[in-house]
Amino acid sequence: MQDLESLNFSNQFADLPEDFFHKQEWTPFDNPKLIHFNEELAELLGFSKNLNPEDLMLYINGNKAFKNSTPLAMAYAGHQFGSWVPQLGDGRGILLGQIQTKHGLMDLHIKGAGKTPYSRFGDGRAVLRSTIREYLCGEAMHHLGIPSSRSLIMIGSDEPVFRETTEFGAMMVRVAKTHIRFGHFEYFMHNKKSEFVPILLDHVIDNYFPKLKNASDSYTDLFEEIVNVTARLIAKWQAFGFAHGVMNTDNMSILGETFDFGPFGFLDDYDPGFICNHSDHQGRYAFNNQPSIGLWNCHALAAALKDHIEIERTKEIINAYEKVFYEELTNIFRKKLGLSEIKPNDLKLVEELLTWMKKNKKDYTNTFRELSKEDNDLFEDQEGKLWLEKYQERLKDEKNTPENRKQIMEQSNPKFILRNYLAQEAIQDAENSDFSKLYNLIEVLKKPYEENVNFEDYAKVPPDWSKKLEISCSS
Ligand code: AMP
Ligand code: MG
Repeated sequence: MQDLESLNFSNQFADLPEDFFHKQEWTPFDNPKLIHFNEELAELLGFSKNLNPEDLMLYINGNKAFKNSTPLAMAYAGHQFGSWVPQLGDGRGILLGQIQTKHGLMDLHIKGAGKTPYSRFGDGRAVLRSTIREYLCGEAMHHLGIPSSRSLIMIGSDEPVFRETTEFGAMMVRVAKTHIRFGHFEYFMHNKKSEFVPILLDHVIDNYFPKLKNASDSYTDLFEEIVNVTARLIAKWQAFGFAHGVMNTDNMSILGETFDFGPFGFLDDYDPGFICNHSDHQGRYAFNNQPSIGLWNCHALAAALKDHIEIERTKEIINAYEKVFYEELTNIFRKKLGLSEIKPNDLKLVEELLTWMKKNKKDYTNTFRELSKEDNDLFEDQEGKLWLEKYQERLKDEKNTPENRKQIMEQSNPKFILRNYLAQEAIQDAENSDFSKLYNLIEVLKKPYEENVNFEDYAKVPPDWSKKLEISCSS
């Protein structure tokens, strides 16, 4: 059990050379206010059950000090919207360190902690709105079964922060397997510090892939692991209708967790060209571009590692991205359709359903959920009925009982997702100090696959007013 003051940080990252970061304290709020504490995550991290969240808040706000932490802001770079940006780094984040848990190492990172040498023109703060969005999204993804960073605690303040309007500053503690991004490698490679690339490669292998340590080509093996987890992660996003919004290489975790999502959005109607980030004028990060952007990012990573990975294998790994992606995607879609047998045309069957959904502007989540109900009346038109016939024909290949199939489908097709309008309503109230909607939404997102009569409204398609909501990068 972890006691707060002597919390057992292991600081692997802080032991790297000084070129990797800037060690520093952070800037507390004058009047911090506890908004939410993630008990479940705290337990997973091994924190004591009697932990007082108000006490934790004082450590996170910087009023009390962790004895064993070496706080630092990380240096990294990245490709933002396809353009090279040589210096990014934690402009408003502080990495407190690593904690060893039974699920492996976990990073604790404060977001919204004030200025660092990497703040550029920013104020180092995060607003309540974006902090709530990040909190909710981490929970939503995790409980859907999609690897994601999560948040341990959210703190509000009365510190004004200036965005399009004046908002209030907030902080959260982000918990992720790592905060090492594709952009970390790019930073060293393209800033004439390439001697640090193998140091970082060794660091990642030692701490996250020890099984590769004695391999004959461990750096290329590591690259393969990163490409594969990335492909599988993005397949999950596609299958659950998640749009990340800013898939810059500095927002890509090397361990395949959904990470640094700002203007994200879940699909309501099935619209493959959906652009959740209002600042993304070209649609670079549109929903249906995500798989190829994932690959683009892997190319950028390969370029950063080029002196250390074997070229022919690298080409093969990159070429296999599509296969890994489609394998994962097809597996998930089979479950969504309740299929246990493997047949060559399964993905085609899904694609036909998606085409129908697009044409008829069907709600992505609810259509799949309805499909698991025997007596659904989803398909009233000719094309829909035709699809249903094909699906029923395909079901004849199944050895599974209908009950079993229904069960698989209910566990694979969520009833509740983080719809943008739900987040928006929770935020609006929270900005007026009423957190009840936020807390309800957090509860709903914990059990996305279970029916819950008390929360029926949360599964409703968005009301008309919410269709005009615009989510930008501003956070
Ligand atoms: P993001 O869009 O949150 O992934 O951030 C991109 C880069 O801008 C990162 O280096 C951030 O640390 C930095 N950044 C974003 N917002 C701020 C802010 N308010 N103050 C300082 N740096 C920021
Ligand atoms: Mg970022």
